[in-house]
Amino acid sequence: MKFMKRIFLLLFILFVSVESYAFEYGYTNNGFKYVKHKHSESSYQHAWAKLHNGIEEYENKDMTRVDCLTKTHAVEFDFANKWAESIGQCLHYQRMTGKRGMVVLILENPQKEMVYYNRVRELGKIYNFDVEYITPQILNIKNGKCPYKDCKCNQKKIYYKK
Ligand SMILES: [Zn+2]
Repeated sequence: MKFMKRIFLLLFILFVSVESYAFEYGYTNNGFKYVKHKHSESSYQHAWAKLHNGIEEYENKDMTRVDCLTKTHAVEFDFANKWAESIGQCLHYQRMTGKRGMVVLILENPQKEMVYYNRVRELGKIYNFDVEYITPQILNIKNGKCPYKDCKCNQKKIYYKK
């Protein structure tokens, strides 16, 4: 039994390390690992909502907020590393609004991250929600900065002493 457990653990570690290959990581002062993003999720949301005449941060009866509500869809935005959460939220928004759910997955590195989009797209076919992806192209980036003031790319960096 112990042997089997070890094998499982090894397989699990291997799986996790292969999975995490697609993302760039940072570490907080107290050692937590997180995925680094150049632009905030909200910037992608602003850009997409404008293109689709969507209402951002639409509030449901249960106080949860839909990232973007269009005539036809309740839309959830997430970075590719949060592909699994995006599905849960999308399905909840679909139920709350009566509109068709949609996941818009943000692929900062489309070549490496397409696998996550494909995963969500296949589940969308089974569970009846729509899926599309966007890339940093939608942000209209100039000199590394997007036009959204609330984006992290337009805020001063805080440096911590080590
Ligand atoms: Zn930005």
